[in-house]
Amino acid sequence: MAERRPDRSRPTSFASHNGWDGDFEVFSDFDLPVYVGPSTFQKLPWVTDPAELRSRGVDVAIVGAPFDDAVSHRPGARFGPRAIREANYATGSLHSLQQPGYLEPFEVLNVVDAGDANIVPAMLERGHAMVYRKVHEVAATGAIPIILGGDHSITWPSATAIAEVRRPGSIGIVHFDAHADTAPEDWGQLAGHGTPMRRLIESGAVKGRNFVQVGLRGYWPPVNVFEWMQEQGMRWHFMREIEERGAEAVVADAIGEALDGPDAVYLSLDIDVIDPGMAPGTGTPEPGGMLTREVLRAIRQIVGAVELAGMDVVEVSPPYDHAETTAMAANRAVLEAIGALAAKKAAGRTVRFERVAAAR
Ligand code: MN
Ligand code: MN
Repeated sequence: MAERRPDRSRPTSFASHNGWDGDFEVFSDFDLPVYVGPSTFQKLPWVTDPAELRSRGVDVAIVGAPFDDAVSHRPGARFGPRAIREANYATGSLHSLQQPGYLEPFEVLNVVDAGDANIVPAMLERGHAMVYRKVHEVAATGAIPIILGGDHSITWPSATAIAEVRRPGSIGIVHFDAHADTAPEDWGQLAGHGTPMRRLIESGAVKGRNFVQVGLRGYWPPVNVFEWMQEQGMRWHFMREIEERGAEAVVADAIGEALDGPDAVYLSLDIDVIDPGMAPGTGTPEPGGMLTREVLRAIRQIVGAVELAGMDVVEVSPPYDHAETTAMAANRAVLEAIGALAAKKAAGRTVRFERVAAAR
């Protein structure tokens, strides 16, 4: 066999030959583009261990609830948490232009992504149990949970967990939705996504008089359901009231009604409160809704004014989401809440629920 000789025409280093040995900067995962690396919310650290949430003194923890076993119409919300996490082109240290002054929320507020509830498909009761356990575990560290749904049925276990960690009956709920979600049952299913608000009130987790709904419209629920709601002392604001009085005045009333007794508010945002022209990627779209900018402003208004106990953003169904507009609206809803909390912390106010730490 002929001896192989070194090929002198071949470079000794391809990197040097091709210009790939230059002084290129290497970026952390946090600063990389959103489509590179792990897909946590806003590329924040993925911290699932409650002991670590405590030791880090986390202010706000994102929790995924990738669950849609309880939908009545279009499915797909199980893909919501991942889509909401990814629906932003801006990474690194964001600058919140909607807040006065110069505010970089992640420089002020300690926010992590606490991962997802342990969901598997086709097991409705188990899914709710896992959402309850995950949110309870996170809230018990004093961090404020922001839960990404999932269909709206997850508000039942999620708000229950937060009410339990604080004190049942001690939180008001401001609930944005085209639908009241107070049905007695969905075709016999007590835990469907048309029923969670009734379950929360019936169980005593939240008082009916502090349950406030904003944006209701369309053709559901029927009169007998509104009669039940009235018996519970629930308050609601139809979309036509927003058209007549403006969102800001209506939301100011909603804040007062939710805090009529309680000291903190759980904010539940069904993305279908936004007009389907702006947020088409959802399971039960109802034309004639709020503008995305009205909802984002309402979130700043509420979170700036109340002690936030927790928040969820639900019913984003990516398979119906042309151009990701719905996931982006949900992503910004979370960022607006984070911005408002950061502004509070920057002003010297507490964001975490410190009383839970004191009680344990
Ligand atoms: Mn809903
Ligand atoms: Mn709805």
